[in-house]
Amino acid sequence: MPSAETSSSTAVRGRPFREGLLALEPPRLLGSRCTDCGAASFPARAFCPSCRTGAVEPTELSPDGRVHSFTVVRQAPAGVEVPYTLAWVDLPTDRVRLMAQVVGVVPEAVALDMPVALELTPFGTAEDGAELVGYRFRATGEVAP
Ligand SMILES: [Zn+2]
Repeated sequence: MPSAETSSSTAVRGRPFREGLLALEPPRLLGSRCTDCGAASFPARAFCPSCRTGAVEPTELSPDGRVHSFTVVRQAPAGVEVPYTLAWVDLPTDRVRLMAQVVGVVPEAVALDMPVALELTPFGTAEDGAELVGYRFRATGEVAP
């Protein structure tokens, strides 16, 4: 029997804004990993960028990241709230670097090597009416005010 208690979970409706980019429950970025040298890629690739073999398989990447570098975006198209922080985020476990928005901290307090964690975020509505889901990172742990 369905229970209202399930509302306490972070259930996600909708689908990823791009197929094959992320899993929703639990939130994970989907990449590829080389079965020869172990190098991971995001987004997934058909070959290994490190050793150039085609021996790659799909993999879920770690949700735990660190800010490698960042910029504060202060101008954006209408409807986009500014300022926001856009960062190169390293996933140390997978040795993958990707660009994503960082939230949960004011831009002035973002710091290099700051720990962040993957989270899902609404990404608009598809032509068929489905809610689209994107990803970003949220600052974790103690953040200076
Ligand atoms: Zn490789």
